[in-house]
Amino acid sequence: MDAQVPGTAPGTAAAPPAGSHPGAAGSPGPDAAGPERTWSLQREWSRAFLVMLTALLIGAVVTIVGVRGLMNQVEETSRRLQVELEKVEVLRSALDAHEQLGHQLLANAPADRSAFVRQQDEISRLFGETAAVLPGDTASREKLDAARQSWQEALAAHGLWGSQVQSLQGSHLDQTPAFAASSAAIRMQLADIRRYSLAEMDDGLAHSAELERFLFIGRSALFVAALGATAYFRRRMVKDIIRPVESMHHGVRKLQAGNYNHRIEVFRRDELGELAEAFNGMALAVRNSHEALTHRATHDPLTGLANRAALMEHLTASFGAGSTRRNRNEGLLFIDIDDFKEVNDSLGHERGDALLVQLAARLVACVRSDDMVARLGGDEFAIVVMDDDAGSVTAGIAERIHEALRAPFFVGEDRLTVTASMGAVQRRLDTSDAAELLRQADFAMYLAKHGGKARLQLFDAEGYDHMTYRAALKRDLAAAAPEGQLRLEYQPIVDLTSGAILGVEALVRWQHPTLGLLAPSEFIPIAEETGDIDAVGCWVLDTASRQAAGWRKALPRCEHLWVSVNLSTIQLPNPRNLAAIKRILADPAAQADKVVLEVTETALAGSTDGGIAALKTLKETGVRVAIDDFGTGYSSLSSLAVLPADILKIDRSFLGRQASEAQSAAMLEGILGLARMLSLEVVAEGVEDRRQLELLRALDCHMGQGYFLARPAPAEMIVALLAAGAPLQPGPAELERAVDS
Ligand code: C2E
Ligand code: CA
Ligand code: CA
Repeated sequence: MDAQVPGTAPGTAAAPPAGSHPGAAGSPGPDAAGPERTWSLQREWSRAFLVMLTALLIGAVVTIVGVRGLMNQVEETSRRLQVELEKVEVLRSALDAHEQLGHQLLANAPADRSAFVRQQDEISRLFGETAAVLPGDTASREKLDAARQSWQEALAAHGLWGSQVQSLQGSHLDQTPAFAASSAAIRMQLADIRRYSLAEMDDGLAHSAELERFLFIGRSALFVAALGATAYFRRRMVKDIIRPVESMHHGVRKLQAGNYNHRIEVFRRDELGELAEAFNGMALAVRNSHEALTHRATHDPLTGLANRAALMEHLTASFGAGSTRRNRNEGLLFIDIDDFKEVNDSLGHERGDALLVQLAARLVACVRSDDMVARLGGDEFAIVVMDDDAGSVTAGIAERIHEALRAPFFVGEDRLTVTASMGAVQRRLDTSDAAELLRQADFAMYLAKHGGKARLQLFDAEGYDHMTYRAALKRDLAAAAPEGQLRLEYQPIVDLTSGAILGVEALVRWQHPTLGLLAPSEFIPIAEETGDIDAVGCWVLDTASRQAAGWRKALPRCEHLWVSVNLSTIQLPNPRNLAAIKRILADPAAQADKVVLEVTETALAGSTDGGIAALKTLKETGVRVAIDDFGTGYSSLSSLAVLPADILKIDRSFLGRQASEAQSAAMLEGILGLARMLSLEVVAEGVEDRRQLELLRALDCHMGQGYFLARPAPAEMIVALLAAGAPLQPGPAELERAVDS
């Protein structure tokens, strides 16, 4: 019963042509006049019920009439019998009385002879009446006639009939026994009549029983006919109603399950047949609109190419269960039109669209029939290249595209030449999914764009890994401060003559949940990019200042210990963040006069406007400012005079090995002289060996910081160092003093 529409296998239905109304194709529509109905369920079943009703009526009438007849018969028989018996009874008593009188006459007893004759006439009349009630041609009638005959003959024989009576003389007692015998015989005959009548009644009742049998047979025949009719109508009901309804139900279930090609079989052209046809029309309309919707959902309306969703579905399928060798080796080309925005801006969106349509056609002309060209949106296109083992097919297609774009486009009166930047990626075993493949191709295209446009860039896994690593850090950074993943290490800043710890520099680390402990160089630049530096910076300032205040209070000889905190200049221009920093420093718990804010020279030089003003307002809290990495920024010496600095931290490159000792000594000496003139304190960074330490001492540099003096360490180790109070790398004078005491 799975009727398929001829010529359309499921899933291969062609897309409806543009502009066609989904319901227009083939559906009968509600008001379309279909062919005349040839059968009518209503008419048929009305007739069937009429036939049944008539049969019932006939049955009822037959029963009523039959029973009525039967009753009449019985009544009639019993009434007649009663009349007969009454008449016979009257006749009998009259005969008895007459016999009595007859005996008196024969015995010559005094009797009224004329009364006897009247009696005789009366009895004759009674015989007549009785004969009238008895049906003719019956045995009882014969008997009656015979009795009448016998009675007349007996009377006549004894001289008692009619006029004979008057002439009867004397006693005839000798005749009395004969007379009595003949009277007895007549009585017997009358008794016979009674018997016959009863027998007749039996006959009548027997007739009724026969009638009843006929009635029974008639009723049974009617019942059999009703049974036959019921079986017949049941079969018709199954064939004409139940089956079509079931088939319709089946069709509805199929449609619900998404089989839009299933059609209901039309059994007959009756009401249900019309319903089935209407359903089929509806199913066709649903299929058409489903196809139109699917087409709309998977295609770009402007170019008719597959859209992003369709491309992703295609790629996802090749990663999933439907994966074959051909699509495991697929390549993906990401295409972005160069400077398309300018076309749109100068010619308008309509012409921009017209260009995209022509462009799409050229792209399609550059690929093989089973490669997929999709428009991802705007001026971005992608091509899935099937079965490209080494990437040569993808590169070939990219080359053909470059070639195809060389010819100018004509949009209205305008003649345009466009180029495209393309990124190509080859699917590898470790490519996790479709989205990643697309991201990789996009990344390659991005590099092509930044590498000068109008070119193809092959995917570079290392660069991509770096980018994704950075992207992951970017994503996780926001949670670092609120979720307590930041740590602080402190590096002592040392008095180079005595070896005493004067201050500590707070250096931040990030305990990343999966990547481990990260150095600031790995995430501070990203935090500056994302703006998370504000939160990180405030956390460092708050934590370091409070912790150092605690040490000052708790540890002996630490009451002047200061703490250096690095500040990114990104933190300064934002008024809200500046206020937050100010709030932290204004809190007495922070002890701002023992806090040094380190700002790099380069950063300050780059943002002279907000940065310097902001630092000046911060200094109102009593905080000191150090210029970090001094000497690397090439800032003019004149600008140094306007910076609100208290300390110069000479960059470690001045102590580095690349410069000759004499050269670095000269530079250091210059900086130290300059600082002295500007009344700035100096900290030399990067003291890594004794030789450097000695040089600084010889140049009369008072403070230093470096691995040779102390490495950055967690708070507990710094506390231990401070508590011990031992000088770090003490000078010869200090050593002597220590030995003396
Ligand atoms: P910086 O401010 O110049 O900090 C000193 C850096 O030099 C530290 O690296 C320290 O471990 C390292 N260092 C110290 N002594 C020596 C030495 O003798 N030789 C060598 N080669 N290196 C030495 P770290 O901790 O990796 O910090 C790197 C940079 O990250 C810092 O440079 C600073 O610019 C930045 N930074 C650290 N913490 C923060 C922070 O809380 N906020 C901001 N904005 N930046 C921070
Ligand atoms: Ca620093
Ligand atoms: Ca530094």
